Amino acid sequence: MPGIVSIAIDGPAGAGKSTVAKGVASILGYRYIDTGAMYRAVTLAALLRNVDINDPQALYQLANSTKIDIIECNGENIRVMLNGQDVTEEIRSPSVTENVSNVSKAPGVRQILVDAQREMARGQSVVMEGRDIGTVVLKDAEYKFFLLASAQERARRRALDFEKMGFPVNIEKLTEDIEKRDYTDSNREVNPLRPAVDARVIDCTGMTAREVINHIVNTVTEVRY
Ligand code: C5P
Repeated sequence: MPGIVSIAIDGPAGAGKSTVAKGVASILGYRYIDTGAMYRAVTLAALLRNVDINDPQALYQLANSTKIDIIECNGENIRVMLNGQDVTEEIRSPSVTENVSNVSKAPGVRQILVDAQREMARGQSVVMEGRDIGTVVLKDAEYKFFLLASAQERARRRALDFEKMGFPVNIEKLTEDIEKRDYTDSNREVNPLRPAVDARVIDCTGMTAREVINHIVNTVTEVRY
């Protein structure tokens, strides 16, 4: 029986990482870890406490004094706790989404969250999704995937998510926001979004989530078992 396995799933906003990572984790029985939720939780804390999101030192102090827990409940469903309070829904709000890339640029915030993410992955098989998992957080992951999709397709998926959550949707603004977030995430100095050299890149445009999940599970099981 194989030992502990780590699967890193990275990619830009709206490429379908969460659905795919959850699906893969559920089929393989691994723990699912959403690192974006952690950056979102720090962003929510900054907005609630009026911390200047352009002040890296203030953000570092905030992250350092903030407790974020990701609790697994019935398999792939997770709850995100900020200092003991359930903020699972709040961290998906448009205001958090608009500000999160600025917060995640702060080197001190990244240092704290990267350490926490490595700790969460220790001693168990995981599917971890984010932007820098294959390049930084789990550099030695056995499997690395980088999901891509066209900006239009990604905006369309985000629109569906927002609609389901009851937020008003403007597809042009969503496309613009996604492109802006990708730009900030890809061009920041610390741990920018980019595929690891040993990542398998999957263009998910036109693929269903089920197809991407099957592709990843097949790759992992074929190579491994
Ligand atoms: O994955 P999600 O869209 O929820 O991520 C929100 C934001 O968190 C990203 O746009 C990015 O700025 C940041 N992030 C990051 N590194 C990660 C995961 C997310 O910088 N590993």
